[in-house]
Amino acid sequence: MATDAEELIAQSTPEDAPPFSMELSQDQQDIRDWVHGFAEGVVRPAASEWDEREETPWPIISEAAKIGLYGFESLAQFWADPSGLTLPIASEELFWGDAGIGMAIMGTMLAVAGIFASGTPEQLGEWVPQCYGTVEDPKVGAFCVSEPDAGSDVSALRTRAKYDEAKDEWVLNGQKAWATNGGIANVHVVVASVDPELKARGQAAFVIPPGTKGLEMGTKVKKHGLRASHTADVFLDDCRVPGSCLLGGKDKLDERMARAREGQAAKSQAAMRTFEVSRPTVGAQALGIARAAYEYALDYAKERRQFGRAIIENQAIAFALADMKLEIDAARLLVWRASWMGRADHPFTNAEGSMSKLKAGEVAVWATERAIQILGGNGYTREYPVERMHRDAKIYTIFEGTSEIQRLVIARAISGVHIP
Ligand SMILES: Cc1cc2nc3c(=O)[nH]c(=O)nc-3n(C[C@H](O)[C@H](O)[C@H](O)COP(=O)(O)OP(=O)(O)OC[C@H]3O[C@@H](n4cnc5c(N)ncnc54)[C@H](O)[C@@H]3O)c2cc1C
Repeated sequence: MATDAEELIAQSTPEDAPPFSMELSQDQQDIRDWVHGFAEGVVRPAASEWDEREETPWPIISEAAKIGLYGFESLAQFWADPSGLTLPIASEELFWGDAGIGMAIMGTMLAVAGIFASGTPEQLGEWVPQCYGTVEDPKVGAFCVSEPDAGSDVSALRTRAKYDEAKDEWVLNGQKAWATNGGIANVHVVVASVDPELKARGQAAFVIPPGTKGLEMGTKVKKHGLRASHTADVFLDDCRVPGSCLLGGKDKLDERMARAREGQAAKSQAAMRTFEVSRPTVGAQALGIARAAYEYALDYAKERRQFGRAIIENQAIAFALADMKLEIDAARLLVWRASWMGRADHPFTNAEGSMSKLKAGEVAVWATERAIQILGGNGYTREYPVERMHRDAKIYTIFEGTSEIQRLVIARAISGVHIP
């Protein structure tokens, strides 16, 4: 049976997409202000504490669940906006509050996106609510693709999934690396190789239901930034799941692998499009960090006095702030453009989704570094938030496709040449 959220999504088809406009509707402004209020009142005051603790901020996730910000309904509401802008706007505001806590709240979306990308409507209805849990007992989800020897090159996955026909079960074995919420998630979505000879075309995504034997958390990673977000290895040791846990179903997988064995062209456009659609949301998160650092540095530069004047009265500082504002707004335009294109079903001829994530990620690293410089010694301490923002920003040139991989995707798209 379709949930309210599924119905909300189904009602909003790409045909509804309005022309691109930067004039926000009243609904978009209301959502922006609502998320901003939560980011300012709840997230930001807790940011330093959870960064130091390096633990999942469950009380904050609970608060977000209570107000309806954490859960499938809010995600569906953001996604249902036919202009495509509500999700990046909400993401920017949340990550403006704090990126570590922001990722603790938004990390589940990775698993949900994985279920959306390959699952049937029945699978979506069954597993997505379990990723989030309930308001009284919120849960998180994890999306496990990366492995120790397969990061940028996801075609090299070693985790194997074998079908046990007699029991109609899949048996998974392997090691996943770097999984956000890995091992603490209620639902893990695991990408594994069914036929390694077919590389990426022989891979499939599986749901590992709560409490499944054979899934164990490995080492929890101690990170440079995003420390309120849990990252860990996940081990799969004869991990058995029902046949129905293969996302999309066995018939579809068999057909796809048969086409690949016959040497038929891959529907690579579809996979590529999935990334192009999801990358602007990641860019919007980076944008939130960059804007937070810029605003902090601007206020500081007006207050801090040296040589008898506010430091902003020096062109070196004023121009740095002008450049920060310029780059952040330019990145936002790319993020909004790609978000609108994704929702309106426009072809990403020049890899516009990758462009937006690349630009926003690099702007976030650069702008947070500039902010430290503007704060001087204070900027380098944990007493001031820009140091944490800089550490948090760095991940945006690494995960969801490194900056080099984004450039590769863009270069291939603009040239039509298969650059290796
Ligand atoms: C905090 C954090 C959270 C994460 N969360 C998740 C998660 O939830 N789920 C998940 O599956 N993964 C997750 N990841 C993994 C992340 O997606 C990978 O780290 C990322 O894809 C890069 O892979 P790698 O670390 O193995 O680097 P590598 O692929 O080893 O790359 C190392 C360097 O080589 C460069 N390089 C590689 N190939 C090329 C090429 N062809 N051309 C030019 N340069 C190249 C890269 O750009 C990079 O600079 C997370 C990682 C971190 C740090």
